[in-house]
Amino acid sequence: MAAQSNQSKANQSKPDKSKPDKSKSDKMEKIVSLCRRRGFIFQSSEIYGGIGGFWDYGPLGTELKRNIKDAWWQDMVRNPPAGPNGKAFQMVGLDCSIIMNPKVWEASGHVGGFSDPMVDCKACKGRFRADQTADTACPKKPSKMVGEHKECDLTDPREFNLMFKTHIGALEGSSSVAYLRPETAQGIFANFKNVIDSSRVKLPLGIAQIGKSFRNEINPRNFTFRSREFEQYEIEFFCHPSEADEWYTFWRDVRHAWYVGLGLRSDMLVLREHEGKELAHYAKGCADVEYDFPFGMAELEGIANRTDYDLKAHIEKSGKDLSYFDDQRKERFVPYVIEPSGGVDRSLLAFITEAYTVDENRASPEFMKFHPRLAPIKAAIFPLVAKDGMPDIAEPIYNELRKHYACQYDAKQSIGKRYARMDEAGTPFCFTIDGQSKEDGTVTVRNRDDASQDRIDKSRCLEYLRDQLQL
Ligand code: ATP
Repeated sequence: MAAQSNQSKANQSKPDKSKPDKSKSDKMEKIVSLCRRRGFIFQSSEIYGGIGGFWDYGPLGTELKRNIKDAWWQDMVRNPPAGPNGKAFQMVGLDCSIIMNPKVWEASGHVGGFSDPMVDCKACKGRFRADQTADTACPKKPSKMVGEHKECDLTDPREFNLMFKTHIGALEGSSSVAYLRPETAQGIFANFKNVIDSSRVKLPLGIAQIGKSFRNEINPRNFTFRSREFEQYEIEFFCHPSEADEWYTFWRDVRHAWYVGLGLRSDMLVLREHEGKELAHYAKGCADVEYDFPFGMAELEGIANRTDYDLKAHIEKSGKDLSYFDDQRKERFVPYVIEPSGGVDRSLLAFITEAYTVDENRASPEFMKFHPRLAPIKAAIFPLVAKDGMPDIAEPIYNELRKHYACQYDAKQSIGKRYARMDEAGTPFCFTIDGQSKEDGTVTVRNRDDASQDRIDKSRCLEYLRDQLQL
């Protein structure tokens, strides 16, 4: 999303504003605690007291994040859905540098205007986003929101630029200033001509990129939802201006359906069209996919018809011709761009929130009902005890399954505890090798979702997993 929109949007009622009710904030606390306990997400630099707005992904979180990015790449880039009315289009990938020539950010408007309104409190010396004081906790006790204590003394709002600045080379000076990218999109615009000239691709064309972005958010909050370092998956989809409305609708619906297909319940997801003032001045259409988090409805992804705004800005600043010649139409034009721009960390948080399930009737009440494609571990293999020949049966099964799927072998603790650990990791199936396995060659398969158990021949484990996961 370009700079200008951030500023204007800052004055709108933001969706992650609604105050959480108690049961929802309890749920959020339980999710955060499970994430830490089970190694999904840790606070960055925790041994030094952490650092606000930065997070690390643990072993399970790393697999989950990789699965989300792989699913996106597979479903959007390698094998996207058919275009509107069967229209053909191409998709290619890009992997740009995080630090680019600062002129890129001047052209995009980020240097001049990528800012949020900020207020200082003269009493507590805190700094807050001016449009979020009503739902930001004041550091003073008893707990109230910013501005609600008698002593709170807020300044007038002023603009705070969210770009992270750094310096290139050994000499620090105005000529060495550079920025960590606040979005991946601009790298795509800057390379548009390179891709067209090098790849024998034609419009309509999507260029996709997954990568880290950085924003010096005034108040990072809601766990990983608003971080200072995060990952984005973005597509810039270039098309003829006359087809832009159709492609906008297409991508808006495709992106919404993608989240539903991976397990976000459609009644928890909203596709919200921007209207009136919320629409950036250059955009012809914009919709947000929002998820009903315990802390309120909040954006996972924005899909916008950005017109020819970005390419024209770069044409003007760079002096390079970024227009496109369509040899079928026999026409040269500056393409319109449809941009589906999502956050990997935000969608990961939504998938975790959705997966988090409590069933007090189970031996292990908390479990993570991930979609099979996203589950960090697809199967666990347990010898009931680490003796009596059971590991000799279990290990070959593990060695076969791990060639195809992320699997875990665990021979320690009681079987109940091992099931509980796998439930918390969201592992769809556990194979247990017990005394009977030695006699008749069968193993137990336990299903995460209903804790039901099946007995199958040990030679069928891979086939069973394939059938059940459909992967
Ligand atoms: P917001 O209004 O919540 O600040 P935005 O509209 O500025 O978000 P975009 O610039 O459109 O966000 O960025 C595209 C996507 O990148 C967002 O939909 C979101 O998923 C992700 N994103 C943006 N800022 C952050 C952040 N601070 N932390 C995590 N993800 C982010």
